[in-house]
Amino acid sequence: MVRVQIAIDGPAGAGKSSVAKEVAHRLGMTCLDTGAMYRAITLKALKEGIDLHNDKLLIKLVQNCNMKIEHNRQKGTLIYLDGEDVTDKIRSPQINENVSIVAKSPGLRKKLVFLQRELAEKSNGIVMEGRDIGTNVLVDADYKFFLSASLEERTRRRWLEMRDKGLNVNYKDLLKEIDQRDRIDQERAEAPLRAAPEALAIDTTDYTFEEVVETVLKTIRNEGC
Ligand code: C5P
Repeated sequence: MVRVQIAIDGPAGAGKSSVAKEVAHRLGMTCLDTGAMYRAITLKALKEGIDLHNDKLLIKLVQNCNMKIEHNRQKGTLIYLDGEDVTDKIRSPQINENVSIVAKSPGLRKKLVFLQRELAEKSNGIVMEGRDIGTNVLVDADYKFFLSASLEERTRRRWLEMRDKGLNVNYKDLLKEIDQRDRIDQERAEAPLRAAPEALAIDTTDYTFEEVVETVLKTIRNEGC
């Protein structure tokens, strides 16, 4: 069976999750938001009060937790930790502030990348999004995209998203948090945020959501999916 793999990477707030979800839906494929996995581990680490810089403790934590992942057409990636649906909980400002620290852990990354590859193997085709999908998780992906947008535009989109969820955040604080998170993700030693050389880079700053989805789909159709 031919299993098509589509990798979408990019910095925070570039629209990866919504684009990946829509592209997967239109192609009848599964979608995986890998950031949700790092967020779920961060939630558990914070709950247990462990040192977020301690690789060994984070490995132990991931070994001892039961992480279940489902794909839902409306909500995208649903994530369960030890039987509890934490899909909404992992979007809190506290998780935003700490997730990039946790995601630096090489041992933890190894475990999660293993699970991500396993999910891709079991799927009948997958759109996977994150920071290191094209460069590390699915290096042989059939299609690779790198979505970006100006920091101000990415902050504006996140701010609107949070406002719609009833979260009242300060724009300047949010911009600082996104900027800092990107910097940590770009500068870490293990699988940093980077575009694969062969990825199609799309600057979405002046694009509508539909235009980005269409650009991705057109590229895939032109190359034959
Ligand atoms: O995509 P999202 O913003 O939810 O990702 C949260 C964080 O998870 C990122 O800022 C990054 O630190 C980490 N991450 C990662 N590798 C991935 C996906 C996410 O390091 N493939």
